[in-house]
Amino acid sequence: MNIMVTKKSEKKFKGRYPLIQKEDLLDVPKSFSAEWIDFVDSKGQFIATGYLGEQNKGIGWLVNWQGCMDSSFLESLFVKAKNHRVAYENNESTTAYRLFNGEGDGLGGLIIDRYDDFAVFSWYNETLYQKKEEIIQAFRKSWPEIKGAYEKIRFSFHSLPESQKLFGSDAPEPLLVYENGVTYATYLNDGLMTGIFLDQKEVRGRLIEGIVAGKTVLNMFSYTGAFSVASAMGGSATTTSVDLAKRSLPKTKEQFEMNHLAVENQKIVVMDVFDYFKYAARKQLYYDVIILDPPSFARNKKKVFSVAKHYGDLVKDSVDILKKEGLLVASTNAANISLEKYKKMIVQSLEEKRVRYQFKETYQLPSDFKTNKHFEEGNYLKVFFIEIEK
Ligand code: SAH
Repeated sequence: MNIMVTKKSEKKFKGRYPLIQKEDLLDVPKSFSAEWIDFVDSKGQFIATGYLGEQNKGIGWLVNWQGCMDSSFLESLFVKAKNHRVAYENNESTTAYRLFNGEGDGLGGLIIDRYDDFAVFSWYNETLYQKKEEIIQAFRKSWPEIKGAYEKIRFSFHSLPESQKLFGSDAPEPLLVYENGVTYATYLNDGLMTGIFLDQKEVRGRLIEGIVAGKTVLNMFSYTGAFSVASAMGGSATTTSVDLAKRSLPKTKEQFEMNHLAVENQKIVVMDVFDYFKYAARKQLYYDVIILDPPSFARNKKKVFSVAKHYGDLVKDSVDILKKEGLLVASTNAANISLEKYKKMIVQSLEEKRVRYQFKETYQLPSDFKTNKHFEEGNYLKVFFIEIEK
């Protein structure tokens, strides 16, 4: 099947930009078939093979600019993906990492993560989901050592659960994985999330190295407390983890226990971070290090949070409860904000607060989260280590 793209969009697709939006097509079909499609320019000339599938963002992906899409193409993508991660495969102290990163590894809409001997597949549209058997078969050729897998359904489909078993044997609950020698408890079949965000491994690695040794660390939006555990393993004096989800308390305790760290030395607070900022200011609690890693968008009873609108407030509130000389670890996973814009937002808030600051380190996605150089928004993670003097 052939589909023509608009004259305006031709250029970006010939330049290997992979994500298709409705506006890019002359005629958007009423329903999307599970077939591979040849996308052609306004003269009918072949641009690339791809597929259509409704996603949270976009309606499909270009996949192969050379044409032919058979099972050997999928297999070759997996072989390449595996080779790219040899360093991880040979590293016994890190057993959880991304095996296949969608468009970064040549096929947008599919993500596969490794947790020890198990895999977690995330499907972002129904079209790839319909090709599941073919994909699993190709996957198992490249990774025969994977004993079992689960899947996350990340598109709206009423009769499917968010998470379920995909193949092979069951993973233990919790499944213990290592990252830079630190143990994390993960749950592979408990909703969309597993207990750890694998994209932050380098930032956690930096905390373990000792940059926060002897310091008091406040971890905002702490989820299962992974940054707190990494800080404690790196010798922090105390950690305080703040998250409004009730489950964060037992989950964070569990992560400390897995590493034989005394939970009594750590504070775990179930509270809205904006309330905690007020509480800490009132109680005159000051911290050497504050880690800010909010979701890019969140709705709770009181308000809607978005990074674009509210990150500056978080920075200003943090400055108020940092010690005279402190470290701010500012992180976001908002794909719609560029590194430059994000930095500008932070700088503006620091200028308003009239503090001295120095951007010391920058992190983006680690190498297992392979990115596509023609698709910049795919490198969504942005983390700055900023020294602040009041
Ligand atoms: N920093 C974490 C990941 C954060 S995920 C890590 O590295 O593992 C985002 C978390 O923010 C979720 O656990 C969610 O419960 C929490 N959250 C969202 N809005 C919040 C708010 N206003 N106050 C506190 N926590 C919030």
